[in-house]
Amino acid sequence: MNLREALKAGEKTLAEAGIADAPTDARLLLWKAAGITLTEYALDPFREMGEEEVREYLELIGRRKKRIPLQHLTGEQEFMGLSFQVNRDVLIPRQDTELLVEEALKLLKPGMHVLDLCTGSGCIIISLERIGKERGLADETGSFTGSDISPGAVRTAMANAARHQARALFTESDLFEKLEGGYDMIISNPPYIRTAVIEELEEEVRCYDPLLALDGKEDGLHFYRRIIREAEGYLNPGGWLLFEIGYDQREAVTELMKQQGYRQIQVKKDLAGLDRVVIGRYDRM
Ligand code: GLN
Repeated sequence: MNLREALKAGEKTLAEAGIADAPTDARLLLWKAAGITLTEYALDPFREMGEEEVREYLELIGRRKKRIPLQHLTGEQEFMGLSFQVNRDVLIPRQDTELLVEEALKLLKPGMHVLDLCTGSGCIIISLERIGKERGLADETGSFTGSDISPGAVRTAMANAARHQARALFTESDLFEKLEGGYDMIISNPPYIRTAVIEELEEEVRCYDPLLALDGKEDGLHFYRRIIREAEGYLNPGGWLLFEIGYDQREAVTELMKQQGYRQIQVKKDLAGLDRVVIGRYDRM
């Protein structure tokens, strides 16, 4: 079997299994099994595959057919132009979340101490540090910290920081529990799905993203309530709080922030036109 024949067979199998983006998935799995890039494929699509390559490809296609997410098979997901290691301990980085990083970059200044709660793979704080440094918005006088309640997530985030040589530190902590104060920016994409809605999510998300990273408890707002209340003790005067939110959480989250004394509250929409990011400033005298 040559590369092209394998690809066609893989596409067909995935499409018949109802996988949404069968051609893309079949391609990325072929690159992995054959150890090639798109360019190498384009140069010689009729190269005969080795037995071992074919066997590995068919196995990957078979696993994807069973709804194991593509990213768990390739072991990575790109976010803000960087490739992050992913596994069952972390939520696969979503493109929607790039808006949160872009908004944080608008507020970032050299010397700031930044905290990312519920860091998961570390994609938010690591890309913020990397891109911040590139743009002259971050230097050694500031700091970048990520925390997560899951030991597996903290391990993964540390591996990702090493992969990108990011100057970011990670702590295993239930929100602020193990942290000390003094942050200029707190950023978070917490679990925000209502418990009852989780069973309606697609299989790739419901069965393979960690439940811990999705479940926002009964009304989906559990972690916003806790973070908005507890952040008071950890934000410097004039410090910023930035959240990713679900499409229908704008009012609830902005109201919680107002009640707690946050000002300059802004909501930003994602590329699909849905409310996605809420920003507020804690102006303590
Ligand atoms: N945006 C994710 C999803 O749609 C949920 C992430 C979260 O709860 N923070 O599955």
